[in-house]
Amino acid sequence: MKGNQMKLAVIGAGIAGLTCAKEAMSAGHEVTLFDKGRGPGGRCSTRRMPGKDGEIRFDHGAIGFRPQSSEFAELTETWVEAGLVKPWQARIGQLNSAGRIEAADDAEALYYVGLPGMNGLIKGLASELDCHFGIRIHEVRQNGDSWVLTFEDDMPDFACDGVICSAPAEQTAILLDGIAPELAKQAQHVESSPCWTAMLSFSAPVPVDFDLIHMDGRPFSRLVRNSAKPERGCAEAWVLQASSEWSEDHVDWSADDVLTELVSAFAAATDCSETPDIATAHRWLYATPKSGVGVPASWEPDLKIGTCGDWHIGGTIENAWLSGRVLGERLKTVSSG
Ligand SMILES: Cc1cc2nc3c(=O)[nH]c(=O)nc-3n(C[C@H](O)[C@H](O)[C@H](O)COP(=O)(O)OP(=O)(O)OC[C@H]3O[C@@H](n4cnc5c(N)ncnc54)[C@H](O)[C@@H]3O)c2cc1C
Repeated sequence: MKGNQMKLAVIGAGIAGLTCAKEAMSAGHEVTLFDKGRGPGGRCSTRRMPGKDGEIRFDHGAIGFRPQSSEFAELTETWVEAGLVKPWQARIGQLNSAGRIEAADDAEALYYVGLPGMNGLIKGLASELDCHFGIRIHEVRQNGDSWVLTFEDDMPDFACDGVICSAPAEQTAILLDGIAPELAKQAQHVESSPCWTAMLSFSAPVPVDFDLIHMDGRPFSRLVRNSAKPERGCAEAWVLQASSEWSEDHVDWSADDVLTELVSAFAAATDCSETPDIATAHRWLYATPKSGVGVPASWEPDLKIGTCGDWHIGGTIENAWLSGRVLGERLKTVSSG
């Protein structure tokens, strides 16, 4: 490391943290990432479960993405070439006013999905970086002109020149409270919506002709035939996303009670009389930010602390990437001095 480059710690190895880390490394900074998740994914996670005929994968966070900017579309093409993502032509359905599922006005839509699950993208990006999973940062402490990260287990503290926090807003606000008051305040202004998600698999196809169905929010926002995505195997697998309103109203329910409600609502919506072979539920407490902060990322040069993540500009993979890239670009112009 040259004299003017920094030793940086990045908290969170989702799409924002990884993108920021990659840019910072290309400027010569020494970057180490820590993530409390057991493996790569963040909110692009994939749950694996044993099925009758082999493993079944459920993308229970982001289902995929559709590039909005030409820059992100170009980057997506490089991910396709690297085998990290693949296009998925989804047949789109919607709930009509009579409560029946019908073809949507745009009957098909092109999404990009990670391989062999959404977390494949995160895994691929993480493989180029110094990432440590299953490690939760307990506290960030000042130590003269530098910083020390402490962990929740017996791991030795980690000393560094600068810290990037890419955790969801509520978690960032807690970590930066007391050490970077302006950044903590910015994060405190963002509230996230929860999302209850159910993962179901069946031994026969569910009798609907669509892969992604937009619902009316009572209780679902979207139903996704996960097994229709490329390279997901042949077992019939669905991911059901409850709406943010329903999830907020049921945020304290047990996973079992939520599952009972969602399974029977799914059966009613799709006329599927089969009992699922696999049924489980997951609660994302900080699924999507309700608002942003108006800037794609923040950096306090005196403190050498920065923040990035989808909560800066809106809850999509592309926005998380943009936030991480903007902060990474900013770090190319700063040094440890
Ligand atoms: C159910 C659901 C459906 C979605 N659907 C879509 C979709 O279809 N399309 C789309 O574009 N987007 C979708 N999104 C949004 C998308 O997943 C996010 O916008 C994006 O993944 C956010 O990336 P990020 O890097 O900002 O945050 P994250 O992926 O959340 O990464 C932050 C990381 O910080 C880690 N962390 C937090 N606190 C600590 C700590 N103390 N110590 C260590 N690590 C910590 C977390 O483990 C996490 O991995 C969806 C999200 C959810 C939840």
